[in-house]
Amino acid sequence: MTAPTVTERGRLTVLRATWLFDGTGSALIPDPLVVIDGGTIVAVGSGMAAPQGAEVIDLGGAALLPGLVDTHVHLAFDASVDPVGALAGRSDDEALEAMIMAGQAALRGGVTTVRDLGDRDYLSLGLRGRPGLPTIVAAGPPVTTPGGHCHYLGGVAEPNEAGVRASVREHVERGVDVIKIMASGGNLTPGTHQHLPQFEPEVLRAAVDEAHRHGLQVTAHAHAVGAIADAVAAGADGLEHVSFWTEDSVDAPAELIQLIADRRTVVGATLGMMPVPGRLPPPEIRARMPLLMANLRRLYEAGAPMVAGTDAGIAPVKPHDVLRRAPDAMREIGIGQAEALRIITSVAAGVIGLGHRKGRIAPGFDADILAVDGDPIADPEALHRIRAVWARGTAVPDAGRSSTT
Ligand SMILES: [Zn+2]
Repeated sequence: MTAPTVTERGRLTVLRATWLFDGTGSALIPDPLVVIDGGTIVAVGSGMAAPQGAEVIDLGGAALLPGLVDTHVHLAFDASVDPVGALAGRSDDEALEAMIMAGQAALRGGVTTVRDLGDRDYLSLGLRGRPGLPTIVAAGPPVTTPGGHCHYLGGVAEPNEAGVRASVREHVERGVDVIKIMASGGNLTPGTHQHLPQFEPEVLRAAVDEAHRHGLQVTAHAHAVGAIADAVAAGADGLEHVSFWTEDSVDAPAELIQLIADRRTVVGATLGMMPVPGRLPPPEIRARMPLLMANLRRLYEAGAPMVAGTDAGIAPVKPHDVLRRAPDAMREIGIGQAEALRIITSVAAGVIGLGHRKGRIAPGFDADILAVDGDPIADPEALHRIRAVWARGTAVPDAGRSSTT
């Protein structure tokens, strides 16, 4: 390849390391060199010389990976024991301040792109493109029923076809990137039921239709078996959680698993938990965990497209930098480490509509890069030894400082 020369736009930055995972491969590339011009990667090579005049940053012993992409976060939730109460106590300005801190925590943990699947009153939209934060894909407040799951975030629609169409249109007018709809109840909202659908099937279908008419994808929060089935039938592009929750257990019908795979509905698996002393998921989740994991394995083996959305922000074990813990959980459902790394980089970027500029270390892609100590395929723990992070070409201050210590 031809080495690029210094342009008039400014000095090139060159990263050197021992290995590189490019976001799509199954093996590491040795002795890599990545050339960055401003916010963009302009060249990637192995064993090549740095262009003259470039600033060279040598990361011996490190592996370079694409910045991680979390497909399901809540910047407005602060990962405290009561994120809903904490948010309720904040003015919009205070909430924005907390959301900025959440974004900064994500960046320090190598998460350079997030899809926010539920803010309050569209607050996350104003943070898009802001320097010092991850790239944000924003849903605004989730579309829900009166009193339904996360109704306090401001996305309540009348639970009929005209009502959800009007709500989707409001989201479009506000400029969201994706529609999130609460197809079932959820754990964070007392009075709702995870095992029950929130909308009639034809209402869900109208919401999806309206979003698609405006060129937006829809992902449906769906725990209840009926809600999962309805969301798939409605043509939702993605499902979040997909726990097949019943009143007292979990029940995933084989034909529904096959249908999700056949329809290529993206499964947003809620994976990744930070070990925090004394903090565990709620007992009703812990009791179902073995079955939840077994069903995710069945979905994966059936060929359903799968990404890891952490639900960052909803609990102390879900801080905003938790995504690097997801491969540990993915291994439990039979996903190898290289595939897990692809899932949290290039696959996730594709699912959220940014496959053309995120999730890969390749010329023309954004210079979102994570440097870790060691080989992250042979030694998964390397992912937790962060040396440096760049977001759109800018080094992240205090990279690797955990949000939970
Ligand atoms: Zn969520």
